[in-house]
Amino acid sequence: MAWGGSLKRGDKGADVIELQMRLAGFRGTLPDGDYGPGTELQVSSFQRDVMGQTKPTGQADAATIAAIAAFGAAHPVDFQQLACRCGVCGGFGRGLFKGKYRGTVKAEAYNRYEYPGIHRMILWAYRAAMFYAGPKGWTLTINSGYRCSEDNRQHGRSSTNHHGKAIDMDILGAPSKMIDRERCNTLRGLLVEKANAQIGWSAANRKSLEPAEIAPTWVHYDVRSYDSRYLADRYFVKTAAALDTAPMV
Ligand SMILES: [Zn+2]
Ligand SMILES: [Zn+2]
Repeated sequence: MAWGGSLKRGDKGADVIELQMRLAGFRGTLPDGDYGPGTELQVSSFQRDVMGQTKPTGQADAATIAAIAAFGAAHPVDFQQLACRCGVCGGFGRGLFKGKYRGTVKAEAYNRYEYPGIHRMILWAYRAAMFYAGPKGWTLTINSGYRCSEDNRQHGRSSTNHHGKAIDMDILGAPSKMIDRERCNTLRGLLVEKANAQIGWSAANRKSLEPAEIAPTWVHYDVRSYDSRYLADRYFVKTAAALDTAPMV
């Protein structure tokens, strides 16, 4: 699907979902396809922080759409870093365990499905994290992306968050563990402030960060708290080209 026309408050549909996904790291929460005040806030944040506008309009005009494309190109995502390292699945699982849960509770935390790639929203949010880390002189990298059921078996893990819904980011070059921990905490704070992420999973339809007790020297970021309609197969990608292409609806 071609994407790129101008959008404004009151618009609805797939193009708005795409805008909301691409701006997930700018006060984003819900890719519901409804251009309301929340989407306006996303666009305004992007216009202020990335485009340097002093009076953002909140309207995704042609210049803003072009700036979003340029922002994507300036923050490439390395899919080799994201691929599963099990040596069996080919990088992004085998699509196993659809509709299967660990235990009897059908909550996303226990969903065993190997989603077909990594969720586009978390990757666009990662681009924004790279953007906001830049002025601090920090270079972000992915130290763990897809971890399929075979990879879990090899490492004795049971969590299925990394079946496409999560990435672990790292900040390169901390001179000590203590400074690494401090920087990871600062990055989590930035993502709460700039991306509307939450620490933990208590709110629905918010991007989640693991707390420092679980992730001391890395930053885990996931979309586990989203309703299943926002976790449809079409939102998961295996290539850089797919990340930058709006899915067919
Ligand atoms: Zn694998
Ligand atoms: Zn993680």
